[in-house]
Amino acid sequence: MLIDQHHRIHDYLRISLTDNCNLRCFYCMPNEDYHFMPHQQLMQPDEILSIAKTFVALGVKKIRLTGGEPLVRKDAAAIIQSLGSLGVDLSITTNGTRLEYFLKELQTAGIKSVNISLDTLQREKFQLITGRDLFHKVQENIAALLKRGFRIKLNVVVVKGLNDQEMMDFVKLTKDQFITVRFIEFMPFDGNKWNSDKLVTWQEMLQQISPHYLLNPIATAANDTSKYFAIDGHQGNLAFITTMSAPFCSTCNRIRLTADGKIKNCLFSASESDLLGTLRSGGDLTALIKAAIWDKHAALGGQFSKDFENIDANTLHNRSMIAIGG
Ligand code: SAM
Ligand code: SF4
Repeated sequence: MLIDQHHRIHDYLRISLTDNCNLRCFYCMPNEDYHFMPHQQLMQPDEILSIAKTFVALGVKKIRLTGGEPLVRKDAAAIIQSLGSLGVDLSITTNGTRLEYFLKELQTAGIKSVNISLDTLQREKFQLITGRDLFHKVQENIAALLKRGFRIKLNVVVVKGLNDQEMMDFVKLTKDQFITVRFIEFMPFDGNKWNSDKLVTWQEMLQQISPHYLLNPIATAANDTSKYFAIDGHQGNLAFITTMSAPFCSTCNRIRLTADGKIKNCLFSASESDLLGTLRSGGDLTALIKAAIWDKHAALGGQFSKDFENIDANTLHNRSMIAIGG
């Protein structure tokens, strides 16, 4: 069992397959000149499987693949297949632009639910946010997934003055489709020019939605990062990820593994543990993993508090989101 000094059991591993991506979301990738990690620096498929098996032996029950964009990796299909044999709850977070090449693999690996990031329902704004004209691809792939019976969660990072006026359009999506729309508070990472003026808190989001819809809270698992709501007559649900204004650290069960094989015991941790280096040098993975989890800070990587108005993003020590794996 993986437990930290604050008595939290960790059984959910998020593995980043690459820091590479075919989009350029400004809140995630610091700039167009960002240098992706060289391939040999990344965990290779056999290394990913071996590391994942070690985590499963230590009690991990759920694995999510992420990135960068996990589906730009050439060997993504093989990695998905091999992890599908572990008997864990396997899932993936993707920008949705390349899903059409992986529908069969996702199904045979036992993946039932896919998180897709989509911050706007307008083609021009999609291009503004991501730097690429691929809105139609995401739309087509969402339809393809729904047709095949996958559950979809749409991740929407809400940024003031950019897409906050589109929230009601996203809510409407849940009327006739089995989609959970998750509104995410904008978070600070290296190079993403975050400041608190751009943050829309979930209380502000509720103010926008509540006059139009009655939101019925849905009970969720203790470790859930989202606050879920149902709307009468809607097939889908709404959710809010409130990291900045109402952090959920006290029930955190998450472990992150970067594409270059470093354990991050928190999304905001300043320190990392070199698991891939330990594997390659024949060291003790279990001891390293246990120590990394034990050392986890009580909240927000020990770097800031929920008093978000006072955060100076320039003083935070972290990677950019694309190099962590969200
Ligand atoms: N490429 C995939 C995707 O876009 O879904 C997976 C990786 S992405 C880093 C994982 C999630 O992190 C996405 O839902 C993205 O919207 C979210 N994310 C990235 N930067 C963020 C930020 N600064 N604040 C909040 N969420 C962020
Ligand atoms: Fe790529 Fe996802 Fe980051 Fe956008 S959020 S740049 S799609 S990794």
